[in-house]
Amino acid sequence: MAKAVSRWRPIEAPNGKMADADLFPGCFVLVTCKACGHFKAYPPATVVLRLRQLQMGGTLATFAEVAGRVGATCPCGARDWRAGLAWPPGMTDGDIKRLAARARN
Ligand SMILES: [Zn+2]
Repeated sequence: MAKAVSRWRPIEAPNGKMADADLFPGCFVLVTCKACGHFKAYPPATVVLRLRQLQMGGTLATFAEVAGRVGATCPCGARDWRAGLAWPPGMTDGDIKRLAARARN
């Protein structure tokens, strides 16, 4: 039985680039503080648009490059971020499969 998960689940991105978001319909980009784990989630399309504005290659930008562009200071005082893909809380395996099927068709 599919069970809703109440927390963010990291996704192993095969190429380590923003383009990987297209492989996982419904996923988000998580920017996480390396010091304390505080994070923010962004829709991939928003991040790609921003990368294009910054002339950083859009979907070709790596997550390391994305993390490096985060100018914000974390509430804990650190400015060392990590970026990656994740499934939002409440997304079931059934949801993931359904979205993936829809994206293929
Ligand atoms: Zn922090």
